[in-house]
Amino acid sequence: MAIILDGKKLRDKILNDLRQKLDRFDKKPTLVVVLVGDNAASKIYVANKKKTAQSLGINSVIIELPSETKEEELLSKINELNNDESVTAILVQLPLPKHISQKNIINAIKPEKDVDGFTPYNFGRLFSGYEPLVYPCTPKGVLLLLDEYNIELDGKHVVVIGRSNIVGRPLSQMLLNRNATVTVCHSHTKNLAQITKTADIVISAVGKKIIEGEMLKSDCVIVDVGIFKDENGKTRGDADFETASRIASYISPVPGGVGPMTIASLMLNTVELFEKMINKS
Ligand code: NAP
Repeated sequence: MAIILDGKKLRDKILNDLRQKLDRFDKKPTLVVVLVGDNAASKIYVANKKKTAQSLGINSVIIELPSETKEEELLSKINELNNDESVTAILVQLPLPKHISQKNIINAIKPEKDVDGFTPYNFGRLFSGYEPLVYPCTPKGVLLLLDEYNIELDGKHVVVIGRSNIVGRPLSQMLLNRNATVTVCHSHTKNLAQITKTADIVISAVGKKIIEGEMLKSDCVIVDVGIFKDENGKTRGDADFETASRIASYISPVPGGVGPMTIASLMLNTVELFEKMINKS
């Protein structure tokens, strides 16, 4: 049976270290999360972020706006937060209502406060081989988890399934920067199983069950980013845990794998941006 990549355990370790670090700071960071509309899952994610931030002594504010908020109104709110010196990190919870351009909103966030690392400035730096101010939270969490278990990336064939700007795309770049040989798959990929069979590491970020044990190479590593509810309302990942964990050497569970690591990375990013701001002033 595969060894579990325990995201909860590593999250707790990271948060404990951060708490101690923050205790030594005179001033604390302020993370503002903007939530537009009433997406139930987003509300839970945002509440978790606030609770975790507060448990570390980070000031955390949620700004809730109605789903009919106009794009200009949201842009003006972002502008206000950009100019507010007491705000050190801004996160706009995605997805946004359809009538608002996600790109325009992300583009409006000041890169120095872009705690998700999604602005074109931070993305551009990542993709052109420079250090971004911070790395996107979920890909960062995935790499922290692999590093914790000393899973080598250099020269390994890593198959990333999913190419969103939130997970697959930045993650594939971060893996390339770590000298992995990266294959990125998506909904147009033909013969997915043939590709995953050659992978030393499979990282899946789709949101439906697409990986079965028979698609995997013996002793590979599986990092399961996907989350969805099955027909019985149970939280599941992209991999069929039962069959995959019999073939793989390591596997991250859902829940309890990448999810906690994303929150831990958000907290790390909040503190990193704050420290950069202090050092600059
Ligand atoms: P997304 O924007 O919907 O992207 C999904 C990706 O999966 C797309 O690139 C899509 O390809 C690809 N895809 C869809 N069907 C496929 C198939 N049959 N074979 C191969 N690829 C396929 O979603 P996301 O925001 O990246 O999130 C992905 C999953 O991760 C979701 O379940 C989400 O809830 C979860 N997630 C978890 C965390 C966490 O902290 N654990 C964080 C973020 C996201 P196309 O590009 O061709 O459409």
